[in-house]
Amino acid sequence: GGKAPGKVSTRYDLEKETELRFEVEAGEAAEQLELELLTGMAEVFGSELNRNKKYTFGPGSKIAVFTWQGCSVNLYGKPEVAYVSKDTPMLLYLNTHAALEQMRKQAERDNERGPRVMVVGPTDVGKSTVCRLLLSYAVRVGRRPTLVELDVGQSGVSVPGTVSALCIERPADVEEGFSVQAPLVYHFGSTTPGTNIKLYNKLTSCLAEVFSQRCEVNRKASVGGCIINTCGWVKGSGYQALVHCASTFQVDVVLVLDHERLYNELKRDLPHFVRVVLLPKSGGVVERSKECRREARDEKIREYFYGFRGVTFYPFSFEVRFSDVRIYKIGAPSIPDSCLPLGMSQDDTQLKLVPVTPGRDLTYHVLSVSSAEDGEEGARKGIVESPVCGFIVVTYVDTQAQVMKVLSPAPRPLPRHTLLIMDIRFMDMK
Ligand code: ADP
Repeated sequence: GGKAPGKVSTRYDLEKETELRFEVEAGEAAEQLELELLTGMAEVFGSELNRNKKYTFGPGSKIAVFTWQGCSVNLYGKPEVAYVSKDTPMLLYLNTHAALEQMRKQAERDNERGPRVMVVGPTDVGKSTVCRLLLSYAVRVGRRPTLVELDVGQSGVSVPGTVSALCIERPADVEEGFSVQAPLVYHFGSTTPGTNIKLYNKLTSCLAEVFSQRCEVNRKASVGGCIINTCGWVKGSGYQALVHCASTFQVDVVLVLDHERLYNELKRDLPHFVRVVLLPKSGGVVERSKECRREARDEKIREYFYGFRGVTFYPFSFEVRFSDVRIYKIGAPSIPDSCLPLGMSQDDTQLKLVPVTPGRDLTYHVLSVSSAEDGEEGARKGIVESPVCGFIVVTYVDTQAQVMKVLSPAPRPLPRHTLLIMDIRFMDMK
């Protein structure tokens, strides 16, 4: 490739209904890869490629370029792996989209609401990818579906430790995913629902309520329906959380990826009018190590503060006086039922706001800035159910001076003074 000096280029001619899968080496020092469509048409997870444009993929990316009609592409750089597969479930996924689109048409005709879809399955089966695909296909035919992100470990919308909803207005960007403007985000505080399942279910209900309210006033949102991405935890309380989600969102369709037992359980436990569909996973989905997940989480936080490739943000660093903020953790450590004060249930302890005394151990923690109005103690009640307006990271604590230094996307002062602490930490290496 004369246009990218120093990089080897490899041409792939793809037959119809096949995909080129490639991975970019992980790690800071790794070389980026570029992809160019030379002839024909192709898409990356539902987003069409433009011809003669170079798309860049950074370290750790795992990509599939799929073509319905056939195409040829060039890869510049040396991928960790690259191969062509004829064996993909894309036709099944497209048929799923077609069925959902039928439901939207019918909703339009009968003045009803469009499909609410929950995508479930263990980790690394391509749930997020299927969500992205279905959303991009829907938006390409003029719909305005909503993405509901319940995966607190690997959120596609906001930083980890949150659940969120995002109205999708255009297909995902090939390199960067969905444009994240004005998402509705709630603080959960850790990367697995198991740390506080009551809170997790509560926030799921909050999102469902807000979404339903929006559907009442916005016909396009109602017809577009929603696609809900869930966590990979499908046993015990994790399973119960899926059932809870199905009921609170009143889902119409559940797509189960690659898990027959889960499929049977949901068919048994959900009302009969819910369509539960078992879909195969793509052979291209790559299992990610713990380390790989941790890196992805870190990267997501870094992006929040510093931007992503094309867009660079310049975060601010300033001091916040302890006396100016109130920091809480949601959920008191659980105590035996017999020790609970009269009239109090375990639910209450898991949703309780516990004041945090600022100290050195706050360092590096991510804090959510609650949108709840700053008020007296009595106003605390709404904080758990209030969306978040942003995040800061504590970079230094001076207990003597009673101040902490924070990294913030906006200059001082903080827009609100109620902060919620996450288990998640971020060490700023810039
Ligand atoms: P889950 O949400 O179930 O954990 P993801 O959808 O995040 O799984 O997929 C895991 C990884 O596999 C992602 O990095 C994604 O880009 C990659 N991936 C998904 N489908 C394919 C495919 N067909 N070919 C190559 N990589 C893929």
